[in-house]
Amino acid sequence: MRLLLIGMALGLAVVPTPAAWVESMYSRHTYLISQNLLTPLSSLTRVALFDVLIVIGVVGLPVWWVLALRRSGRGRRLRSAARMVLNTATLVAVMYVVFLLVWGLNYRREPLTAKLDYQPQRVTPLALADLAGEATVRLNALHPVAHAEPWSDLDALPSALGPAFVSVQRDLGVGRTAVTGTPKVTLLTPYFRRAGVDGMINPFSLEILINGSVLPFERPFVVAHEWAHLAGYANESEASFVGWLTCLTGPPPARYSAWIFLFPHLIRHLDPQQQDELWAQLDDGPMADFRAVSERVAEAVPVVRRGANRVYDQYLKANRVDEGIASYGAVVDLVLGSALGDAAITSYRGDASFESSASPRFLSIARQAGERLSEYR
Ligand SMILES: [Zn+2]
Repeated sequence: MRLLLIGMALGLAVVPTPAAWVESMYSRHTYLISQNLLTPLSSLTRVALFDVLIVIGVVGLPVWWVLALRRSGRGRRLRSAARMVLNTATLVAVMYVVFLLVWGLNYRREPLTAKLDYQPQRVTPLALADLAGEATVRLNALHPVAHAEPWSDLDALPSALGPAFVSVQRDLGVGRTAVTGTPKVTLLTPYFRRAGVDGMINPFSLEILINGSVLPFERPFVVAHEWAHLAGYANESEASFVGWLTCLTGPPPARYSAWIFLFPHLIRHLDPQQQDELWAQLDDGPMADFRAVSERVAEAVPVVRRGANRVYDQYLKANRVDEGIASYGAVVDLVLGSALGDAAITSYRGDASFESSASPRFLSIARQAGERLSEYR
């Protein structure tokens, strides 16, 4: 039985799974049915179930081994140890199968670029520079509005940003949508801080964990990114793209958070002179926020960060994300190259204050993109 379970896990790890099947049968169907049950269940408690799992793993596993070895008499330790190796391998195999069934198969679904109206030829240096310029305008315009009221705490984000999350999933063309989960602060926060991790999804209970030191104006995007994982977008760039769309569809503080996330991703591809010009165009408000982010991120200890990145990179590759951690960069491609990204940038749903500060050229793009989006729908 144990060998059968181990064999099954190994089989699942290597068996080819056509992306179209995973997409239609799992990611858009059975996965979302179970997500609609599991996430509300794990949201019933404020305790991060992942913390419980870690404690069980760190304390329970060694205790299990010690007890098993002690129970076996002298001279039978070797046999007992061999049995424990098999038991532990079975446990790992069962956990891997549960991981795949509950969430992990989402790594094998079709990429968003195959589902959206994605045109790589739209991703040009000029489009990038234009968008980076637009981002400075947005940050300057949104900063006073976003900072006018106290920032939502984590508990309030599902009601503040939940409707936007559902609407974006509909825009992405899914019939069934994922539900939001209450963001939980984890005991792993000290580690997250040093490793430079902002949040994660627990793939066993479909809850989301947030690094408690993430700044209030970063929270909407970080939470929306993790919700995107809950919606089955396992790929990091796709999750960031969906999180960014969610925030842009949400209230002004969330939109500000979206641009705070995207701006550094945009300008790092520009030449140093262009970068300096754009930083100079930012008002004191957004500049102060970027400084706060860079101070927070500086808390990460390089060696811990490198270790965490290496582990995560191997994890991604094991789940068939061949580009590993480098897949973070593709979010810019999705924003620039998809009609949905374009429309999110240009159609500024229900915000008159922004339209007034937009250039005539920008408004004409907005109108075109609005037309394109209605075609896409
Ligand atoms: Zn992520």
